[in-house]
Formats: sequence, structure tokens, C-alpha cells
Amino acid sequence: MTSVDVLPSLPPTLKGLDVVRAGDPKGNGMVLEITAASGKRVWAIGVPQPRSTSTGPTWVYVVDADGLTLIDAGGDSSKEPVQSALPLVGKRLEDAQRIVITHGHNDHDGGLGALLAASGAEVWAHELYAHLISQGSWRAHAGVNPLLRQLMPWTEEKEGHRPPGIGTDAPEWWQHHLDYLEMRRHLKVGRPLKSHDTWAGLTFLHTPGHSPDELSITMDGVVFTGDHVLPEITPHPTVEMDYPKDMPRDLRHAYPSQDQYGLQVYLKSLNTVARLDPSVLVLPAHRLYNRGRFNLLTVKRAADISGHHVRRLRRMTRKLAEQEMTLEEMTRSTFPSSKLTGGNFMAGVTEVVSHLELLLDTGDVSVTPEGKFRWHGTEKFKELVASLAS
Ligand SMILES: [Zn+2]
Repeated sequence: MTSVDVLPSLPPTLKGLDVVRAGDPKGNGMVLEITAASGKRVWAIGVPQPRSTSTGPTWVYVVDADGLTLIDAGGDSSKEPVQSALPLVGKRLEDAQRIVITHGHNDHDGGLGALLAASGAEVWAHELYAHLISQGSWRAHAGVNPLLRQLMPWTEEKEGHRPPGIGTDAPEWWQHHLDYLEMRRHLKVGRPLKSHDTWAGLTFLHTPGHSPDELSITMDGVVFTGDHVLPEITPHPTVEMDYPKDMPRDLRHAYPSQDQYGLQVYLKSLNTVARLDPSVLVLPAHRLYNRGRFNLLTVKRAADISGHHVRRLRRMTRKLAEQEMTLEEMTRSTFPSSKLTGGNFMAGVTEVVSHLELLLDTGDVSVTPEGKFRWHGTEKFKELVASLAS
């Protein structure tokens, strides 16, 4: 247990936290046994990410819910780490009945191909996931926000083409991405889930925003939050313009356009988690453990993330009060230049866009004919945010 210096004091909903296998200081390779107050046990495996990333390992959770159930599959090299960890807690991958995917990002469902082949498990995911995996990424069509599309012309790139500024120095990374999309195209979702569906003590809540198909799953005093609520880092909200207006084509009636993505939707979904019982423990897909420390947070973390975004909205209007700015200028004034290198630049841009979309929706901001953002001196976003909380 070399990397674990101090076990944390446990929140009241937890009876125990045992380190089954110590990992590295970021939690790679770590295996934990978490016992809820009810006696229900959850195992957590810190699965290393195939390519370096600042988010740390993906935490794959394992529960008994009418049979062995995995929550998330990790990235495309997760089979060996998951397969070797399970016997340490008396389980076998071959016995997995289902793998529940919290959302369709490659560090959560990238390992599905190999894990399904080894186990014969079913994929369970939100019903939007089944529709999204049949489409590629960066499939921006008749966008909901033509102004921003104009300012981000690279989103017009067709599927299979590398968008400029993303991974141009990493062809290998790009090939992995294409392989990943291909793997997903052949997946069959055994049980497409709807919000509030329940199964053997698990309740699936649809919490879109970071991803349109994001699920948060409650069970006996804990909530598995995927990337919806993370400790230490603030998850990236989707931007409206990343998705075609008819994204959930066959589910159009159940999911009207614009309801599944964008900062506004994300803030609303943060409230869904923040409103759970205050003692509920968050079990996130990243940063459960980092730098020798456990992050055992309650659902209050969801409210804190919401507050972070509201502060960012306010800061952006203050900056625009001083001068009108282009999208690039806004991005460069929001993040230090050291954080805007390589593909991170695009991540910074979309973070800023998600906030600008909300400010354009409320009418606090508009775009000048020169392509600059102008603030109108109002803060209607505050009313909007307050209304999302009610
Ligand atoms: Zn994600």
C-alpha cells in the first residue's frame, strides 16, 4: 500500500473503504472495496488510459445487481487491467452480465469491444447512446447556432477528416479514433435505458450536458456520476453546435432538439444530482483518487461545479464590458497560454463557446458584423440559472 498514505475519514453513508491493491499516485492499477452503510459493496478499479491525459485513470465500478455488473468499460486497452483486477475481489470477467456505459466517450466505452468478447455481457446505456454510436463524431450539420458555426468553420469538416488543430501531430491517435468509431458502429445496446428506470437497486438518471447520453446511477447511498460530476476538475460541457438539430432522429418526440446538450442543459442536470440526499457519496469516473489522496465528495460537488460556470459567465461579461472580442480573443483571455497548446486549444474554444451560447440565448451578448462578441450590459443569465434550479 505504498501509494496510500492516509485513508480518509468516511462519510456517514459509508461503512468501509479498503485498498485491495495499491496503484500509482494517480490511482492507475488501484483496486478498492467500498462498503455502503447498507452493507452493499462496490469495487472500484483504476484503469489506466491508453494515451496520456490529465484526467487520470478511468474508474470502472463493479457491483452485484442481479449478476455481476460493470459501470463503464474504460479505454481501448482496459481488458487486461479489468480482467486481472476482478479475481482480487473474488470475481471473474467471464461472469459479467452487463456493462453499463455512463456516456459515449472513448475513455468510458472504448474498452467495450474486448470486454464484451471476453465476457458475453450485454451493453446497457441511455437510449440516446444507441443513436449516437451509429453516427460519427464532429458531425455538425444544420447547426442550431449559425453565427457560431461561422466563427468555427472547421466544424464543417466531414466525418473521417481530421479537423485542423486536432491531433495533427498524432496520426496514431487519429487511427485509434477511427478504430473506436468502427467498433461502436457494430455494438448492440441490449437495454436502452430511460431516465428513472430501475434495476436491482440501481436507478438510472439521465443527466445530459457533458454528453447528451450521460447517465448518473444511484444505489444505496452512492451515485455513480461518470463524467457528469468530477472532483478536482470541472467537466467539459457540450456545445449546441456540435450536434445536428435532428440528432436523436428516431427519438425526436421524446428528445426535442437542444434539450440534450449545451451549458444550459448541463447546469440543469447538475441540479438533478445536487438535489439528491445531501449525504449521498459521489463515485466519479475520474479522480476518485489522485496524488495520494481520496476524493470522497458528496453531491454538494454538483452545486460547486454549477457555481464555477456561473462565475465564468460573469467574468466573461465583465471582459466584454471592457472591449468587444473575437472567439479566439475570448479563449486566450479565459485560459493561460500554457493550457492552450495542441488539441487543448480546441477544448478551450468549446468551453468558451458553451458559455457564449448561453449568453447569446439569453440576449446578454450578440455578435457584431465584424465577428466580435458584444455585451449588452444585462445579466439575464442569472435569472435563467435561477430558473434551472427550481
Ligand atoms: Zn466524457
